[in-house]
Amino acid sequence: MSCKICHLPIICVIGHDAIKAKYIKLFKAIFPKKPIELRYCASCYQSLVDELDIEIKSQQEHINTYKEELELLKAKCKQDYSIMDHNVNTDNKQKRYIILDENSEEYRRIYEHFSGTLFYKIIRIEKSNNPVLLQKFNERSKQLTCQNIKYLFHGSADKAYENILETGFDLHYANASGLLGAGIYFAEDASYSHGFGRITNTNLGKINHILYCRVNLGKTCKGCSGMTSTPKGFDAVHSDHKTYAVFDNYQGLPEYIIYYLVEDHK
Ligand SMILES: [Zn+2]
Repeated sequence: MSCKICHLPIICVIGHDAIKAKYIKLFKAIFPKKPIELRYCASCYQSLVDELDIEIKSQQEHINTYKEELELLKAKCKQDYSIMDHNVNTDNKQKRYIILDENSEEYRRIYEHFSGTLFYKIIRIEKSNNPVLLQKFNERSKQLTCQNIKYLFHGSADKAYENILETGFDLHYANASGLLGAGIYFAEDASYSHGFGRITNTNLGKINHILYCRVNLGKTCKGCSGMTSTPKGFDAVHSDHKTYAVFDNYQGLPEYIIYYLVEDHK
Protein backbone atom coordinates (compact mmCIF):
# COMPACT_ATOMS: atom_id res chain seq x y z
CA MET A 1 0.00 0.00 0.00
CA SER A 2 1.38 3.44 -0.86
CA CYS A 3 0.54 6.98 0.15
CA LYS A 4 -1.86 8.83 -2.15
CA ILE A 5 0.19 12.01 -1.94
CA CYS A 6 3.88 11.14 -1.87
CA HIS A 7 3.60 7.56 -3.17
CA LEU A 8 5.93 6.13 -0.55
CA PRO A 9 4.93 2.93 1.21
CA ILE A 10 2.65 3.45 4.18
CA ILE A 11 4.10 2.22 7.43
CA CYS A 12 1.83 3.85 9.93
CA VAL A 13 -1.79 3.95 8.98
CA ILE A 14 -2.50 6.42 11.76
CA GLY A 15 -5.34 8.57 10.54
CA HIS A 16 -6.35 6.01 7.97
CA ASP A 17 -9.94 6.11 9.19
CA ALA A 18 -9.80 9.71 10.31
CA ILE A 19 -11.68 11.23 7.46
CA LYS A 20 -14.73 9.06 7.48
CA ALA A 21 -17.33 8.96 4.74
CA LYS A 22 -19.53 11.56 6.41
CA TYR A 23 -16.68 14.08 6.24
CA ILE A 24 -15.71 13.46 2.65
CA LYS A 25 -17.98 16.19 1.24
CA LEU A 26 -16.60 18.72 3.65
CA PHE A 27 -13.03 17.62 3.06
CA LYS A 28 -13.57 17.95 -0.69
CA ALA A 29 -14.95 21.48 -0.24
CA ILE A 30 -11.84 22.57 1.63
CA PHE A 31 -9.25 20.63 -0.34
CA PRO A 32 -10.70 20.27 -3.86
CA LYS A 33 -7.35 19.15 -5.20
CA LYS A 34 -6.39 16.66 -2.51
CA PRO A 35 -6.89 12.98 -3.24
CA ILE A 36 -9.52 11.60 -0.98
CA GLU A 37 -8.56 7.97 -0.97
CA LEU A 38 -7.95 8.00 2.78
CA ARG A 39 -4.55 6.47 2.28
CA TYR A 40 -1.74 8.64 3.51
CA CYS A 41 1.59 8.05 5.16
CA ALA A 42 2.04 9.51 8.63
CA SER A 43 3.93 12.58 7.34
CA CYS A 44 1.38 13.47 4.67
CA TYR A 45 -1.48 12.86 7.03
CA GLN A 46 0.11 15.18 9.54
CA SER A 47 0.53 17.88 6.87
CA LEU A 48 -3.15 17.56 6.00
CA VAL A 49 -4.16 18.01 9.61
CA ASP A 50 -1.84 21.02 9.91
CA GLU A 51 -3.24 22.52 6.70
CA LEU A 52 -6.73 21.96 7.93
CA ASP A 53 -5.91 23.90 11.07
CA ILE A 54 -4.53 26.83 9.08
CA GLU A 55 -7.44 26.71 6.67
CA ILE A 56 -9.94 26.74 9.50
CA LYS A 57 -8.26 29.79 11.03
CA SER A 58 -7.99 31.75 7.78
CA GLN A 59 -11.46 31.01 6.50
CA GLN A 60 -13.31 31.47 9.73
CA GLU A 61 -15.81 34.05 8.45
CA HIS A 62 -16.48 32.29 5.16
CA ILE A 63 -17.28 29.00 6.66
CA ASN A 64 -19.74 29.87 9.34
CA THR A 65 -22.20 27.35 8.02
CA TYR A 66 -19.52 24.69 8.07
CA LYS A 67 -17.97 25.76 11.31
CA GLU A 68 -19.59 23.23 13.53
CA GLU A 69 -18.79 20.42 11.16
CA LEU A 70 -15.24 21.65 10.78
CA GLU A 71 -14.69 21.58 14.49
CA LEU A 72 -16.02 18.05 14.55
CA LEU A 73 -13.69 17.04 11.76
CA LYS A 74 -10.79 18.71 13.47
CA ALA A 75 -11.56 16.95 16.73
CA LYS A 76 -11.89 13.66 14.91
CA CYS A 77 -8.52 14.09 13.17
CA LYS A 78 -6.84 14.96 16.43
CA GLN A 79 -8.40 11.99 18.14
CA ASP A 80 -7.29 9.52 15.50
CA TYR A 81 -3.85 10.95 15.53
CA SER A 82 -3.74 10.93 19.31
CA ILE A 83 -0.20 9.59 19.48
CA MET A 84 0.95 12.79 17.85
CA ASP A 85 -0.93 14.79 20.45
CA HIS A 86 0.81 12.99 23.28
CA ASN A 87 4.01 14.50 22.02
CA VAL A 88 2.73 18.00 21.70
CA ASN A 89 4.42 20.16 24.24
CA THR A 90 2.80 23.56 24.44
CA ASP A 91 6.14 25.38 24.22
CA ASN A 92 7.84 23.12 21.75
CA LYS A 93 5.47 21.32 19.45
CA GLN A 94 7.38 18.20 18.53
CA LYS A 95 5.86 16.29 15.68
CA ARG A 96 5.45 12.54 15.75
CA TYR A 97 7.19 12.15 12.38
CA ILE A 98 9.69 14.57 10.90
CA ILE A 99 11.08 14.40 7.39
CA LEU A 100 14.81 15.08 7.69
CA ASP A 101 16.32 17.93 5.72
CA GLU A 102 18.79 16.53 3.18
CA ASN A 103 21.31 19.20 4.10
CA SER A 104 21.26 18.44 7.80
CA GLU A 105 24.11 16.81 9.64
CA GLU A 106 21.70 14.15 10.90
CA TYR A 107 20.71 13.19 7.33
CA ARG A 108 24.31 13.11 6.11
CA ARG A 109 25.39 10.85 8.99
CA ILE A 110 22.65 8.32 8.16
CA TYR A 111 23.26 8.62 4.42
CA GLU A 112 26.94 7.81 4.86
CA HIS A 113 26.30 4.77 7.02
CA PHE A 114 23.64 3.50 4.58
CA SER A 115 25.85 4.10 1.55
CA GLY A 116 28.65 2.05 3.05
CA THR A 117 26.97 -1.10 1.75
CA LEU A 118 23.91 -0.04 -0.26
CA PHE A 119 24.00 2.09 -3.40
CA TYR A 120 20.31 2.82 -3.87
CA LYS A 121 18.88 6.32 -4.05
CA ILE A 122 17.41 7.45 -0.75
CA ILE A 123 14.05 9.17 -1.25
CA ARG A 124 13.27 10.20 2.28
CA ILE A 125 14.48 9.74 5.82
CA GLU A 126 11.84 10.14 8.48
CA LYS A 127 12.49 10.55 12.17
CA SER A 128 10.05 8.96 14.57
CA ASN A 129 9.55 10.82 17.83
CA ASN A 130 8.12 8.44 20.39
CA PRO A 131 8.78 9.71 23.93
CA VAL A 132 7.27 6.60 25.53
CA LEU A 133 9.74 4.32 23.74
CA LEU A 134 12.61 6.71 24.42
CA GLN A 135 11.84 6.58 28.13
CA LYS A 136 11.74 2.77 28.07
CA PHE A 137 15.03 2.70 26.16
CA ASN A 138 16.63 4.97 28.77
CA GLU A 139 15.28 2.87 31.65
CA ARG A 140 16.62 -0.31 30.05
CA SER A 141 20.00 1.36 29.48
CA LYS A 142 20.38 1.91 33.23
CA GLN A 143 20.25 -1.87 33.80
CA LEU A 144 23.09 -2.68 31.39
CA THR A 145 26.64 -3.64 32.38
CA CYS A 146 28.03 -0.72 30.41
CA GLN A 147 26.85 1.90 27.93
CA ASN A 148 27.62 0.95 24.35
CA ILE A 149 25.29 2.77 21.98
CA LYS A 150 25.46 2.08 18.26
CA TYR A 151 23.23 3.07 15.35
CA LEU A 152 22.26 -0.10 13.46
CA PHE A 153 19.85 -1.18 10.73
CA HIS A 154 16.78 -3.38 11.09
CA GLY A 155 14.77 -4.77 8.19
CA SER A 156 11.26 -6.23 8.37
CA ALA A 157 7.82 -6.07 6.76
CA ASP A 158 5.49 -3.03 6.74
CA LYS A 159 3.06 -4.43 9.26
CA ALA A 160 5.89 -5.15 11.68
CA TYR A 161 7.26 -1.59 11.27
CA GLU A 162 3.92 -0.14 12.23
CA ASN A 163 3.96 -2.05 15.51
CA ILE A 164 7.66 -1.47 16.15
CA LEU A 165 7.33 2.30 15.67
CA GLU A 166 4.32 2.55 17.95
CA THR A 167 5.00 0.04 20.72
CA GLY A 168 8.59 -1.07 20.23
CA PHE A 169 10.26 -4.32 19.24
CA ASP A 170 8.62 -7.57 20.30
CA LEU A 171 10.54 -10.70 21.23
CA HIS A 172 7.40 -12.78 20.65
CA TYR A 173 8.27 -12.80 16.96
CA ALA A 174 11.82 -14.01 17.54
CA ASN A 175 12.84 -17.45 16.38
CA ALA A 176 15.47 -19.50 18.25
CA SER A 177 16.73 -21.11 15.05
CA GLY A 178 18.17 -17.79 13.88
CA LEU A 179 21.91 -17.26 13.60
CA LEU A 180 22.02 -15.66 17.06
CA GLY A 181 19.00 -17.35 18.61
CA ALA A 182 15.63 -15.89 19.58
CA GLY A 183 16.66 -12.25 19.79
CA ILE A 184 15.90 -9.00 18.01
CA TYR A 185 18.47 -8.53 15.26
CA PHE A 186 20.34 -5.40 14.21
CA ALA A 187 23.00 -4.99 11.55
CA GLU A 188 26.00 -2.77 11.04
CA ASP A 189 25.53 -3.14 7.27
CA ALA A 190 22.40 -1.78 5.61
CA SER A 191 22.81 -4.48 2.94
CA TYR A 192 22.08 -7.15 5.56
CA SER A 193 18.81 -5.53 6.69
CA HIS A 194 17.84 -4.75 3.09
CA GLY A 195 17.20 -8.47 2.55
CA PHE A 196 14.61 -8.54 5.33
CA GLY A 197 12.63 -5.52 4.11
CA ARG A 198 9.63 -5.93 1.84
CA ILE A 199 9.72 -4.12 -1.49
CA THR A 200 6.60 -2.11 -2.38
CA ASN A 201 5.54 -1.24 -5.93
CA THR A 202 4.63 2.44 -6.13
CA ASN A 203 4.14 5.10 -8.82
CA LEU A 204 7.73 6.14 -8.24
CA GLY A 205 9.12 2.65 -8.74
CA LYS A 206 10.03 -0.18 -6.41
CA ILE A 207 10.71 1.11 -2.92
CA ASN A 208 12.19 -0.61 0.09
CA HIS A 209 12.42 0.83 3.58
CA ILE A 210 14.43 -0.16 6.61
CA LEU A 211 14.71 1.16 10.14
CA TYR A 212 17.78 2.88 11.54
CA CYS A 213 17.86 2.28 15.28
CA ARG A 214 19.64 3.48 18.37
CA VAL A 215 20.77 0.28 20.10
CA ASN A 216 22.44 -0.01 23.48
CA LEU A 217 24.50 -3.19 23.17
CA GLY A 218 26.12 -2.92 26.58
CA LYS A 219 28.68 -5.71 26.98
CA THR A 220 28.63 -8.15 24.08
CA CYS A 221 29.92 -11.69 23.47
CA LYS A 222 29.78 -14.13 20.59
CA GLY A 223 26.32 -15.64 20.11
CA CYS A 224 25.01 -18.81 18.49
CA SER A 225 21.80 -20.39 17.23
CA GLY A 226 19.37 -21.61 19.90
CA MET A 227 20.10 -18.84 22.42
CA THR A 228 17.09 -17.37 24.21
CA SER A 229 18.94 -14.91 26.43
CA THR A 230 22.42 -13.48 26.82
CA PRO A 231 25.01 -15.38 28.90
CA LYS A 232 25.34 -14.03 32.46
CA GLY A 233 27.25 -10.76 32.60
CA PHE A 234 26.51 -9.84 28.98
CA ASP A 235 23.83 -7.61 27.43
CA ALA A 236 23.90 -8.56 23.74
CA VAL A 237 25.46 -11.09 21.38
CA HIS A 238 27.19 -10.64 18.04
CA SER A 239 28.08 -12.76 15.04
CA ASP A 240 31.17 -12.71 12.83
CA HIS A 241 29.19 -10.75 10.28
CA LYS A 242 28.62 -7.48 12.13
CA THR A 243 25.12 -8.44 13.23
CA TYR A 244 23.87 -8.23 16.80
CA ALA A 245 20.98 -9.64 18.78
CA VAL A 246 19.42 -8.32 21.97
CA PHE A 247 16.91 -10.17 24.13
CA ASP A 248 14.98 -7.21 25.48
CA ASN A 249 12.24 -5.27 23.68
CA TYR A 250 13.56 -1.86 24.68
CA GLN A 251 17.29 -2.16 24.11
CA GLY A 252 16.74 -0.95 20.56
CA LEU A 253 14.95 2.32 19.78
CA PRO A 254 13.43 2.57 16.27
CA GLU A 255 14.41 6.14 15.49
CA TYR A 256 14.51 6.58 11.71
CA ILE A 257 12.87 5.11 8.63
CA ILE A 258 14.90 5.15 5.42
CA TYR A 259 12.93 4.91 2.16
CA TYR A 260 14.95 4.16 -0.95
CA LEU A 261 14.37 3.42 -4.59
CA VAL A 262 15.38 -0.10 -5.54
CA GLU A 263 14.33 0.24 -9.16
CA ASP A 264 13.08 3.25 -11.17
CA HIS A 265 9.62 3.31 -12.61
CA LYS A 266 9.88 2.28 -16.22
ZN1 LIG B 1 2.87 10.49 1.98
